Amino acid sequence: MARIVVVGAGMGGLAVAARLATLRHEVTICERSSSTGGASGSIVRDGFTFTTGPGLLTLPAVYRDLFLKTGAAIEDVVDLVPIATPTRESFAAAGGPRTVVDIPNASRSGTHDAFESGFGPGAGDDWQRLLHRAGEMWGITRKTFFEAPLLADPAGRAERLRSAGGRADLRTTAPWRSLRSLGRAHLSDPRLRAHLERFAVEAGCHPGKAPATLATLPYLEETFGVWWVRGGLHRMTEALHARCVQRKVKVRTDTEVSTIERAGGRVSGVLLADGGRLDADIVITDLPVDPGTAGLLPGPGPKAPGAGRVPASSATLELHLALRGRTPGTPHRTYLFADDPGREPDALFADRATPPSDPTLCVLAPDDEASAPEGHSAWTVQLRVPRQGPVDWDSAAVRDGYSATVLDLLTRRGLDVRERVLWSILRTPADLAGQTGAPGGAVPGAGADGPRNAPRRVPNRSAVPGLFSVGASAHPGGGLTRVGMSAALVAELIGRA
Ligand SMILES: Cc1cc2nc3c(=O)[nH]c(=O)nc-3n(C[C@H](O)[C@H](O)[C@H](O)COP(=O)(O)OP(=O)(O)OC[C@H]3O[C@@H](n4cnc5c(N)ncnc54)[C@H](O)[C@@H]3O)c2cc1C
Repeated sequence: MARIVVVGAGMGGLAVAARLATLRHEVTICERSSSTGGASGSIVRDGFTFTTGPGLLTLPAVYRDLFLKTGAAIEDVVDLVPIATPTRESFAAAGGPRTVVDIPNASRSGTHDAFESGFGPGAGDDWQRLLHRAGEMWGITRKTFFEAPLLADPAGRAERLRSAGGRADLRTTAPWRSLRSLGRAHLSDPRLRAHLERFAVEAGCHPGKAPATLATLPYLEETFGVWWVRGGLHRMTEALHARCVQRKVKVRTDTEVSTIERAGGRVSGVLLADGGRLDADIVITDLPVDPGTAGLLPGPGPKAPGAGRVPASSATLELHLALRGRTPGTPHRTYLFADDPGREPDALFADRATPPSDPTLCVLAPDDEASAPEGHSAWTVQLRVPRQGPVDWDSAAVRDGYSATVLDLLTRRGLDVRERVLWSILRTPADLAGQTGAPGGAVPGAGADGPRNAPRRVPNRSAVPGLFSVGASAHPGGGLTRVGMSAALVAELIGRA
């Protein structure tokens, strides 16, 4: 039995703690804030509940496996449901009404037909050809990239090179190619290209720099569907916290780790910001950056590779709206694309940026009676913005003006809810930075997707013996699904007590 300290109680930290406690280790989680869940949280006020962070879950198999292996099926603790009307996309059309397509859940033929009727003959076929290629990419990267850990030691690097695949595989995954270039080669309609590129923009990447393998994201959505947890996705975080407690994990909130201690060349414990200390044989970080950059590994010794080498990423802004009235039939998420979506990413990554004036808006409107009082709705508008730094999101002038800008944009694009707003809450990248420690509130580790870029992520097993990493900054990356995968990979590396 090893004494294990997990630093951070985001989904990754909770998931790895539950798994390792089930494998009979003695596990303590140290979380610096007063609640668990990190980026996956909630705001509850006046009978309204907003999920902050994730708007939906893909590949639920990852969490089914987690709950099953740690005690009981996910269905026993949360109500996981496929989303009936998942996605509407609306595009500006020169001088006329916007073009709207409704994309069904987990239906390749339904998506084909939606693109054919929305964008014109041939668009659905183009998209299917691209998704076919994305399916092949998934077949190749699943085993070597997603289901294998990233190890900092030379043996790990050698193994990665060995399993990198032959020429045919490389032709398919095209690690030299960007998502934008893949889209241009397959898709003649600019709106379809915008549909593809939004997967990069949401992941915090510029589509012109994001790897082509990000095309696996729409493939996964169309193949395995998109899911919601009744009451809000944070219910899954809460269930996972409860599972940790059942498994006798000590969950210590308001406990910040300031240093990971080393003795005799390996991890020996953690120092706490309040002056306390915990012995540990193993430390697992669940941080939005590598532990070296977070300042937890002072002094000489190997730092986690990846530090400072991950390209800068953009961030997400959320406007939560408590609304009077219900609008049955509103899709779970509605994308109101920018007038010129192809130019949007350039503004996000400029050194001296301003809050975007023409961003794509994603309106999350879960059809979930548990989220609002009767006759009311809880909507969240998400948009991609420059991180804290290039824009000062703490400035009152920027914050106050921007809520109004977003509501005006909604109106201009056909969703006028101004008369229905009871109150709203704006959450900026500065708020997220304060909540999770993500530098600038930016998407952790973005831009490092794909086989060629994988080593830019924080390795799951570091060069410091006894030090491991999970979560969005670690391999295989961000989003609930991959974060859950990182926890499974690390639990397997450490093994049974
Ligand atoms: C707006 C937004 C929308 C998103 N949408 C989706 C979506 O639709 N689907 C999806 O799958 N994913 C989505 N994601 C991503 C997903 O939420 C994250 O990838 C995931 O929740 C990250 O979990 P994590 O375990 O890596 O760490 P985090 O959630 O970042 O948690 C890290 C934790 O570590 C703690 N911590 C930091 N430093 C210390 C320290 N020194 N000592 C102790 N504790 C410390 C922090 O307080 C925090 O609780 C979204 C994220 C955001 C922000």
